[in-house]
Amino acid sequence: MTTQPHTKTFTPSRPIWCAGCGDFAVKGVLEKSLQNMGVAPHNLMLLAGIGCSGTIQNNIECYGYHALHGRVLPAAIGAKLANPDLTVVAAGGDGDGYAIGAGHLVHTFKSNPSITYIVMNNSNYGLTKGQASPTSPTGYRDNAEEGMDAIMLGLSLPSTTFLARGFSGNPEQLEKLMDAALEHTGSGKGFAFLEVLSPCVTYYDTHRDWRARVYNLDEDEGFDPSNRTLAFGRVLELREEGRIPIGRIYKGEHASLESLIVNRDELPPAQQKIGKNGHGKHYEKFIKSYLG
Ligand code: SF4
Repeated sequence: MTTQPHTKTFTPSRPIWCAGCGDFAVKGVLEKSLQNMGVAPHNLMLLAGIGCSGTIQNNIECYGYHALHGRVLPAAIGAKLANPDLTVVAAGGDGDGYAIGAGHLVHTFKSNPSITYIVMNNSNYGLTKGQASPTSPTGYRDNAEEGMDAIMLGLSLPSTTFLARGFSGNPEQLEKLMDAALEHTGSGKGFAFLEVLSPCVTYYDTHRDWRARVYNLDEDEGFDPSNRTLAFGRVLELREEGRIPIGRIYKGEHASLESLIVNRDELPPAQQKIGKNGHGKHYEKFIKSYLG
């Protein structure tokens, strides 16, 4: 665990996930990566969505916020703009992020704020007992739809800068991906999107199936994650072969949201001194000047 200084107001609780849930690996790796990257608890804002995975912010020492269903990304962007010095991590599941939160995901890909988003994809709604989610395959519980691939969605938008997929059954690789995601956002390069295949052992146990089908692009010498066209073609090809690509899938450059809209001549809102009397008007004026 990261050492002092700690947060003053929060003591993490033990996870309540089912034994064997993939989310345990994600929590363990996130804690390790925060330590690797020197992110102290008082400098971390972890925001989570609704679902089993969304309880992660109760289990890690940090400042946290449990967002409305599907709304974790706008809340995380708000936190980053209010205090650009914070490390902001959003986390949630595929139901939360790819169904009700899908519009926010598209706009976050487009605007490229320097926040990390971890999606624990278990291809079902585990919290509510296994209904089909946006990533469930056709035929799962009579699902008539095709499962979506959020990495391909990200690849299709020219402003994306970091797209990766890990697997809870490969924590060593996941740690490298998590470190890279935190480094990307920590150096202000924009949005780091990290999907983690995180099986729900209780309602849809995909662990063995996914272990057999993952294809590690980090070990593919012919693959170049800086080439968007190549990445899109390779991911599509692998999907058509029934494989699931994991690894660093795309890394590019694009101006971050905060570099485009924040006025650095002003202190960010979270660092402003708020007086007792009449700060409302000043604050309104300040917010207008801060956000261009
Ligand atoms: S229901 Fe599934 S996703 Fe939820 S904690 Fe249990 S194993 Fe994990």
